[in-house]
Amino acid sequence: MPAKPKAAAPSPKAGARRCPICGKPSSEAARPFCSGRCRDVDLNRWLSGSYWIPGREDEDEGHE
Ligand SMILES: [Zn+2]
Repeated sequence: MPAKPKAAAPSPKAGARRCPICGKPSSEAARPFCSGRCRDVDLNRWLSGSYWIPGREDEDEGHE
């Protein structure tokens, strides 16, 4: 049984990611972002955006 060639998709560079905020190459210090600023931007988006988890509102549990 011949060994299958492992590489299916050519990957240019592992860790060569881009900042999801501005698209610049990410820096090691602030991965995966390019800078702490973009990291803050993302964090703020996250906090104020879609991932808002509401506190439990007391649904009618009929508890007395
Ligand atoms: Zn950035």
